[in-house]
Amino acid sequence: MFAHLHCHFFGSYSDSLLDPDRDLSYIKEMGQEAVAITDHGVLDYCYPFYWSCRRVGLHPVLGCEVYFVDDARKSIETNDSYRNHLILLARDNEGFRNLVRLNNRSWLENNFGETRGLVDWKLLEEFHDGLIALSGCFWGSLPQKYITGGMEAAEKEFRRYYDIFGRDFYPELGRHGITDEEKANEGLIALSKRFGVTPVVTNDSHYRLARDWRFHDILIKTRFGYPTDFELGVRNYYLKSEEEMRVLGFPPEYYDITMEIARQCRVDLDGIQMVKSSEAFRPEDGAVFSSRPVIIDVRQALRDVTGVWKIKDDRLPEIISLIPPTLDPAEAAREVPALGEWLEGRPRVREAIGKLVGIPRRSLPDFSAVIDLPLHLIREFLPVRRARGEIMASPPGWALRKLSVPLVPVVSLAESAPDFCAWVKKLTTLEEAREKFEERKYASAALILEGLLRVNSDDLEARFLLAESLYFLHRYEKAVEEYGVLEEENYNPWRMPRLLTRKGWACNRLGRPDQARRSFRKAIELKENYGPARYALGILDYREGNSKAAKENLRAFIELRPEGERADKARAILRRLDPGL
Ligand SMILES: [Zn+2]
Ligand SMILES: [Zn+2]
Repeated sequence: MFAHLHCHFFGSYSDSLLDPDRDLSYIKEMGQEAVAITDHGVLDYCYPFYWSCRRVGLHPVLGCEVYFVDDARKSIETNDSYRNHLILLARDNEGFRNLVRLNNRSWLENNFGETRGLVDWKLLEEFHDGLIALSGCFWGSLPQKYITGGMEAAEKEFRRYYDIFGRDFYPELGRHGITDEEKANEGLIALSKRFGVTPVVTNDSHYRLARDWRFHDILIKTRFGYPTDFELGVRNYYLKSEEEMRVLGFPPEYYDITMEIARQCRVDLDGIQMVKSSEAFRPEDGAVFSSRPVIIDVRQALRDVTGVWKIKDDRLPEIISLIPPTLDPAEAAREVPALGEWLEGRPRVREAIGKLVGIPRRSLPDFSAVIDLPLHLIREFLPVRRARGEIMASPPGWALRKLSVPLVPVVSLAESAPDFCAWVKKLTTLEEAREKFEERKYASAALILEGLLRVNSDDLEARFLLAESLYFLHRYEKAVEEYGVLEEENYNPWRMPRLLTRKGWACNRLGRPDQARRSFRKAIELKENYGPARYALGILDYREGNSKAAKENLRAFIELRPEGERADKARAILRRLDPGL
């Protein structure tokens, strides 16, 4: 028997089409008996996955593909975004609690610029009890150590995992068609023999059918809210049948071990007591908000599909503006005849919309409710993480209610905690402005933010969003002023390079190239490999006829970001400067 131990579901936001509700029955239909959830760095869908598995009669394995670094503090201090992947699976209830603790510590203490929580050796040492580890996909630290440092480096790395997990550490083999993957497999098989362990075959699964790669491609290309040229290159990330897995050609025992591991993983979530406490939520100790998924609707799906597939039609903006924010494509096509008509001759687009609608892009705090328990207790039993600078419960709101986690509406705290309520009101207003900003309604966003800043002049988040809105409204003078305040206040170091680059462009528009240059240089001082600032300097150099510096900066940029419109433009300029090339 074979079981998939490496599967990404909705919680691997913008990187998976697999629905923990609908796709599990397909795995069952293929004749498999167990399956794991291993979302990227979050536990958001562990509970829904568990309940669905129970419903369809699959044996659930709860896990996570964590972001792994040697030393999280160091990565954060040096703003070093290098990280590896590592699969952790909970063997029992104690293991699941440790997975939760590990996740919560990664998000609360090892938070990397709000984008991810980092797990390092120290956290593994502290919380490995009850956990089984797989070395992760090709981007795991073990295969990467082998590829870059050879056998000696890989053996050292293996020993580190082995010292922590003992025989509960397994090298992971895959055959997806990634460059150098076979080389990594050879190294891992040799290491496994040396340590006397059986390696595990997995298929990094992100969608149901082989042909679904094209929908996953749309999802991943639009993950920043607009179409990019990102190319995954590999189209094998689907849920393979056992037969399809076996024909990859590894020895039978490398497959059989997957089911043995799945059987060892016996978490009984119903048996884990949700914490009960007479202690209530205390605003001064920190609040954990409920959470809400941001879901792709028909309008967004149509924008994403036509954007990535480069379908241009003058009627589209009008049609999109008519679609109600509904989650049912058929309903939308009926209600908006222009849409129905437009989709009539485009079955591929219709199909793609059907695949994308309903997928959560991410989850955000729901500022209307907080968990009525103190943070120090919550973090020990319920997965939490950060978003929008705040802490929120990982499972969606409906799952929290099903788990009987006590929630209290913020409005009901008006009398007992007025300061807290005023603060949440500010967060809600800021969120409103963000929504306008994301819809590119910059004038409305600026209006809300200016109002907010009149009362809360020290809110740097609001000021940053205002500066960005002003920039897009071409109000450069005012934008430079706001960026200047943020610079002086030493606003969020993670966003500083972007802020300085934007400020530079605004200065440039105002006809102040020297000030622009200073701003771009400062961005590079903060982050040496910051592509957008290199590009900006290159363009400035080129315009000023300084071809040597232009070449240097543009080449550096292309090295950092070889894909995309700006890279193409940089290459075109380089050709102009060096026609011989
Ligand atoms: Zn991975
Ligand atoms: Zn993966």
